[in-house]
Amino acid sequence: MEIEFDWRDAALGTRIRVALWLRDEVGEGGTFKKQTLRAAIQGAEQVDRRMRDLRPAGWEIRTYRDKPSLQADELFLEKVGLPVWEREHRAAGLRQISAKTRRFVFERDGHMCRRCGAAAGEAYPDDPGSRARLTLGHVNPHKSGGGANAEELITECARCNETVKHLTGSQMSREQVWDRIKELPVKHKKDLLAWMAVDARPLNAAERAWGMYRQLPAGVRDGVRRDLEALLES
Ligand SMILES: [Zn+2]
Repeated sequence: MEIEFDWRDAALGTRIRVALWLRDEVGEGGTFKKQTLRAAIQGAEQVDRRMRDLRPAGWEIRTYRDKPSLQADELFLEKVGLPVWEREHRAAGLRQISAKTRRFVFERDGHMCRRCGAAAGEAYPDDPGSRARLTLGHVNPHKSGGGANAEELITECARCNETVKHLTGSQMSREQVWDRIKELPVKHKKDLLAWMAVDARPLNAAERAWGMYRQLPAGVRDGVRRDLEALLES
């Protein structure tokens, strides 16, 4: 017996309801507005995030960035993907990362964002009031169906995670970056070139210890700092 699924059924999860709404109200090749989806389904306010959730299950949704004929608030349903409302496809593309893998990846990456180097709770140099929050991202965030194995995952701060996923790139121009690079002393230029070659900044022992230290609560960190001062003075 075939069970009929309806996007109006609030008992279904938001991801499933959004998929059903797209299939039934928009259809492949159809255009829709973000606000229409928001109005239809409570919990779908973060439309971009909902679209990202469906992408690993083979749903292809284009924005005005890919299709210049669209308005900024319009999206185009290019391809209906897997029927995520069916039991066997519910988990399709969902990233279920085990607690053990999370711990392993954070540990391996020295508890620092592997894209910008921020440690947990550290302020970004260009935004002194900010505090970096670490999360896990995918090494290749745009490959569909990114897995949940440690080798496909990377420690990222929430800010880099968002930037990478939205493909917005940074706010920097090539010229700004190049001007900064040109000013570096030769040794730093060489370091940078080595990092570029492996697309990562290998951490030295002090940096690894720093990442771990930043995991401690503020009061405990003070104690560790005093112990280190005392150790160096003795
Ligand atoms: Zn970062």
